[in-house]
Amino acid sequence: MAEIIRSIRGMNDILPDVTPYWQAVEKTLKDVLSGYGYQEIRFPIVEKTELFCRSIGEVTDIVEKEMYTFEDRNGDYLTLRPEGTAGCVRAAMQNGLLNQTQRLWYMGPMFRHERPQKGRYRQFHQIGVEAYGFSGPDIDAEMILMTARLWKRLNLTGLTLQINSLGSTDARLAYRDELITYFEAHKDELDEDSQRRLQSNPLRILDSKNPAMQALNDAAPKLLDHLDNESKQDFEALCQILDTTGLSYEINPRLVRGLDYYGKTVFEWVTDHLGSQGTVCAGGRYDGLVAQLGGRGATAIGFAIGLERLIALLDATGALPDVTDIDAYIVAVGEQAEKQALLLAEQLRDAIPNLRLITHCGGGSFKNQFKRADRSGARWTLILGDDEISQQVVGVKTMATGEQEIIAWDALAGYLKQ
Ligand code: ATP
Ligand code: MG
Repeated sequence: MAEIIRSIRGMNDILPDVTPYWQAVEKTLKDVLSGYGYQEIRFPIVEKTELFCRSIGEVTDIVEKEMYTFEDRNGDYLTLRPEGTAGCVRAAMQNGLLNQTQRLWYMGPMFRHERPQKGRYRQFHQIGVEAYGFSGPDIDAEMILMTARLWKRLNLTGLTLQINSLGSTDARLAYRDELITYFEAHKDELDEDSQRRLQSNPLRILDSKNPAMQALNDAAPKLLDHLDNESKQDFEALCQILDTTGLSYEINPRLVRGLDYYGKTVFEWVTDHLGSQGTVCAGGRYDGLVAQLGGRGATAIGFAIGLERLIALLDATGALPDVTDIDAYIVAVGEQAEKQALLLAEQLRDAIPNLRLITHCGGGSFKNQFKRADRSGARWTLILGDDEISQQVVGVKTMATGEQEIIAWDALAGYLKQ
């Protein structure tokens, strides 16, 4: 026999026993977002490689080593999107959306060639949110409050909000030099990744997940002490709004983003429940990106939630949503009964449009059909055999109690409705 073809490492199948949870979570997220006036945007999964190199930055982990890039049949270099911000900005620019303020969201798969492990995959899913044309800090606060509401609506606990400001480009450049000087003085304590990042992306060293780097990072100079006046004022205003609303947060001076385009406000929601991949939601302000991509400057802020991690956290904290089960399962034995089952099912669907009803197809004994009905989790089993056909009735078994009643065909919809 030929060998079975398996999926690509780090790219998961999401099976029918869990898709109901995904659907319920996605619906809650969308409801909250539309409650704040955010609208969906859909853009391609594949873009020109150049878009990601120019926006995310040549010396980031993503562009250096994580992108799925290939040459297509025309000889163009294309990349499977590793994140949504670049494509969203590209689409907004190209379609003239940046002439006005925009509140947008998108959802879908992202691709990064990382080492697969719990909470880190090569195809994963994000819901991303972006707002254009607002200079903050009011929208920064609104966005953070909106994320807090998402968790509340999902009954999700165990997340901590961390915030920081990355300041202006100039402030960051000055800080960068100071950071290089500091780390150079401790060069022998740097791990291999940090050695590599020392000249190319020293801020990223602060984001190291290596426990051995912790003490060195804790003692490093802090960007918050080097902020320009505007960033400082905005950050204070943001903190004030959060204080007023009573939302608790931690200021984490080592919070940076892996991508190049962020400045000023950055934030993350992190948890201890998921091991080392504990960031469920990450975002920040990226006022420079539109100009960097050749557009007329537009202020921008956004965040993305990793859906695999969100669902894993819901699971770990016992907060997976209730997902609706099957209402009824029809079993039917005999040629007449099988035909009648299909007719009856259609009539019930006419009468109760959101009824979740499974008609047993494929025949078999009552015993086998009942087994299926049981496994389906249905609340009722509807039974049709020769006797029921001749009397124009259905046996209705309430699965939880085992009670059985006889109901006339024309009274069945009324019975199920109540
Ligand atoms: P990390 O530091 O964990 O690599 P990142 O800075 O690369 O994260 P972002 O680009 O900010 O992550 O992505 C936003 C969110 O998307 C993350 O907080 C996480 O929840 C999720 N995410 C990122 N990469 C992966 C991945 N490879 N697998 C699963 N989820 C991911
Ligand atoms: Mg990463």
